Amino acid sequence: MEELTARAQDVPQLRVAGMTKDFVVRGEETRLRALQDVNLDVRSGEFVVLLGPSGCGKSTLLSILAGFQQATSGAVLHDGAPIVAPDRSRTVVFQDYALFPWMTILDNVAFGLKAKGMAREERHEVARRYLSLVKLEGIEARYPHEISGGMKQRAAIARALAPEPDILLMDEPFGALDPQTRVLLQEEVAKITHAEKKTVLFVTHSIEEAVFLADRIVVMSARPGRIRDVYCVDLEKPRTAETRKLDTFVRLSEEIWESLRPEWQTA
Ligand code: ADP
Ligand code: MG
Repeated sequence: MEELTARAQDVPQLRVAGMTKDFVVRGEETRLRALQDVNLDVRSGEFVVLLGPSGCGKSTLLSILAGFQQATSGAVLHDGAPIVAPDRSRTVVFQDYALFPWMTILDNVAFGLKAKGMAREERHEVARRYLSLVKLEGIEARYPHEISGGMKQRAAIARALAPEPDILLMDEPFGALDPQTRVLLQEEVAKITHAEKKTVLFVTHSIEEAVFLADRIVVMSARPGRIRDVYCVDLEKPRTAETRKLDTFVRLSEEIWESLRPEWQTA
């Protein structure tokens, strides 16, 4: 029995093993290799940031983990089971918000709960709770075009959290925001994901964003994307505005930049 328990704990929540992804490109003989031999284990509650130059396959990797597309070869597992389709235990936040323009903010956040079989009143109650968690009270009845980019991204985060997923997949969620809003949202996400004990895979181009948020930073090489380096970020959680002033924060950001500079100059 003890042995079984120990073994169950050995299974990482997410496992990517020897994974390769090729695309067939129209009008071309050869396939385009987007990802090559990717190996990554993520444990429950861990915040992993993927950092890499444009086109190295970060979005492709996230989309395979979401179940939107399949790997060409290798294993992609959630709690030991192959990921073959999207599931509400893994939700996604995209850079362009992806809110439904014809729905109010409240209905957008409540949308994913329908599949859980909740009645309308209950869906709205849960949605209100998550809107309050991302500090968006009072705008439930508005439509996406009536609120700012920062608020839209807060709403998108509330929508991703509402179905209570195990894993949150975030693809450059703050890429379109102004720098000040971005910093505030980083702090919110750090706080919320820590409090809610979510496992997060987060894609960014920003080294400082990566160091601020991550337990582990996975640096990918230019196409075909491979894991090049892994950095463990030994900063106390939850991270706050004070974190950015710490020596460890500044030093690690510089170290990563120095190591990436040559590759990003050529990518
Ligand atoms: P990143 O998110 O790191 O910028 P992507 O995952 O979007 O990179 O893309 C990785 C590579 O795969 C790029 O060269 C891109 O053009 C290619 N790619 C992505 N999706 C497709 C597709 N559906 N068909 C063909 N090529 C694709
Ligand atoms: Mg991308």
